[in-house]
Order: sequence, then C-alpha cells, then structure tokens
Amino acid sequence: MERDGERPFGPLTDLVLGGRSVVEQHGFVNPPIVRGSTVLSPTVADLEGRTGRYAYGRRGTPTSDALADALKTLEGGAHVALTPSGLNAVATALLAVLGAGDHLLMVDTVYQPTRHLCDLTLKRLGIETTYYEPSVGAQIADLIRPETKAVFVESPGSLTFEIQDIPAIAGAAHARGVAVVMDNTWATPLFFKAHDQGVDLSVTAGTKYLGGHADLLLGTISANEAYAPALIAAHGALGLCVGPDDMFLALRGLRTLGVRLAHQQDAGLRVARWLESRSEVARVLHPALENDPGHALWRRDFTGASSLFAIELKPGPKGAVAAFLDGLRLFGLGYSWGGFESLAIPYDARPIRTASRWAPAGPTVRIHVGLEEVGDLIADLDAGLARYAAAL
Ligand SMILES: *Cc1c(COP(=O)(O)O)cnc(C)c1O
Repeated sequence: MERDGERPFGPLTDLVLGGRSVVEQHGFVNPPIVRGSTVLSPTVADLEGRTGRYAYGRRGTPTSDALADALKTLEGGAHVALTPSGLNAVATALLAVLGAGDHLLMVDTVYQPTRHLCDLTLKRLGIETTYYEPSVGAQIADLIRPETKAVFVESPGSLTFEIQDIPAIAGAAHARGVAVVMDNTWATPLFFKAHDQGVDLSVTAGTKYLGGHADLLLGTISANEAYAPALIAAHGALGLCVGPDDMFLALRGLRTLGVRLAHQQDAGLRVARWLESRSEVARVLHPALENDPGHALWRRDFTGASSLFAIELKPGPKGAVAAFLDGLRLFGLGYSWGGFESLAIPYDARPIRTASRWAPAGPTVRIHVGLEEVGDLIADLDAGLARYAAAL
C-alpha cells in the first residue's frame, strides 16, 4: 500500500500496510486466501511466454506474495522466501550457500535441531561443521579456512542467551568472502535489523512471535541483494511452499506483532527483574538486564528484547524443580514459544555444548512471558519458588 516517492513509514505502520492492495482485494481489508496449483494461461503464447504474474502454485500465489512482501519491508532485504517450518528455513538458507567440500562455522549456542542438521545431514552431504564460542567476535577470522563458505550466528544463544558481536563477525567473514547466516527468531526483524548489521541471509521461525498464537508452523528467510539469487534458486529447487491457511495466519499475526512484542518485552523485563530479587534464583539470563554479560552489545545492536529468557536456580535436586514447575497455574510446560501464553521448561544445556563451557549455579529453567497480567504471573512464580525452597 506504500505510495512511491513519499517518506518511508515507521515499522508499526509497515506492519499494518504490508502486503495489502485495497484495489486488488476489491476493497476488502485482508488479502484473499488463494488455494491453487494450476494457473491457467489464455493462449499458448501466454503459456510459453510466461506472461502472467503467476505460473504455478508452488512458485508463488497472491497469498504468499502478500506475506513475503510485508516481511521484505520489515526485514529491509531484497527477497523473502517462506518455508514450512523455522528449522526448514535454517536448512534452506544453509543449502543456498553450502555444497560438498565446504566448511561451515557454527555458533556453539545454536538451537539444538540446527546442530542436529549439521551433524547428520550436512555431514552426509560432505559439509564439515566447526563449532565456535559465542564470544568469538572478530577472532572468527582465525577459524576461517579457504573452504569456509558460511558463518552461522544466533543471538542471543538458544537456552543460554549469550549475545554475539555480529558486526565484528560479519566484518571478518566478508573480508574473506564468507556468507553470514543468522537465526533471528528471538529478536525478530523488529528488534534486530539483521541486514544492517552485516547478515546476508536471515532466518526466523515464524512459528514463534510472527504467528504469535501457538497455532502455526512456518519459517522465513530474508536475503540481501548479493544472496537473493542463491536463496531463490535453492528454495525453488527444493520445492518448498507453505499452505495458504498458514500463510494467512502469519499475515494476521504480523499485524499485531509490534504491539505484542512491545507488551511482552515490558512484561518479560518486569518478571525478570522480580526474579533477580529472589533468593532462590542465582542468576537471570536476559540480555536487557543491566548486569547481563551481553548487555552492552545488546544495547548497541538491538532495539528491543523479546520475552524469552532463563533463570539459574540455587542448587537443588530434580524433585524440587518439578515441585516448582508442576504446580504452576499460568505457565504451561511445553516447547516452542512466542505465543500469547506463558511457558516454562527445565533444561540442561551442558550436554549440547562442544566448543564452550556452560556451568550454571544450579538447575536451569527457560521462561516465556505471554500476555497474561504480570501481577498474576509473578504470584504464580512466587508460589512456585516457595515450593522449590520447601523441597530443598
Ligand atoms: C523454534 C526455533 C526454530 C525452529 O522453528 P520450527 O518452526 O519449530 O521449526 C529455529 N530456531 C530457533 C531459535 C527456534 O527457537
């Protein structure tokens, strides 16, 4: 809906306008859900000359265009591709830049299924992965080999929330012609402008905050100008497409992403600060807290924080953690996050680190703050921590 030549809009306005064309939608506010495989051409000349805007459902529909166009504005890149899940977006971005004999530098704190992809499938394809410490910064240069084709970053790290110096990593990578691929699911393109910070291919699990309602699996990949052709080629060759209903749900989530994230950032920080004050909690892992080790970098590079963070409890047995979590009324026990509902899971990141040491003070719990009343959430955690203390 943006009119050419006028001043650019702010991100909240872009979220409302993106991918909509009132004229093409016959006046309806939302774009139609187009179901389709075959696209008909009026004549043989049109069919062979591909004169139509669409040629085949897998290669794009008005519904996929509406979502991809809106996301392109938000990401500020050259092309956005949609995939059936966030993990598939990671795989597709990596396959766009890697082939047999190539070397990949992967952050040690990456989302565990991405690690599995590297150790299983990429390895089988002849792609070697070296894991590096999240604090590496410009020293990533020392790990780059002639056959290194990509550096993968995820900031903050999955489960342990370390912030990476992405501009320093990107500077060193680009000096050697190496692509920078990022998993930007935590911050979303609203709170971290990946391309502006040197990222070539930026992935999100739209499953999380974009969908926002725990009812959808979807991935997004945004490429800058230099990497758009490689992304378009890999995505097309792999035959990836997303069902129209899921794309519509993502578009619907997109309209409220800004207000949800603003609220969840604030609510998450209020819960995190309250947890910091509790004697049962040894440390809160949240980069927007002033004494978090990643705070200075987060402040420099990010424009906001989402509502996913973790706590290290004072040492205690497994049974005490179960007493804490089993009795929670508002925090569900479940994977994924970014929806309207609060969640908590116990985890142990120690066995899934191979290049860095992770030594928490005690049991660790990941928390996602949803859209409930903050006072109710704090009361629920208060009762939970009392159960933890009683079970020590
Ligand atoms: C959830 C998640 C993914 C995977 O998304 P799915 O849609 O569940 O496949 C990838 N990266 C991060 C950081 C995630 O949290």
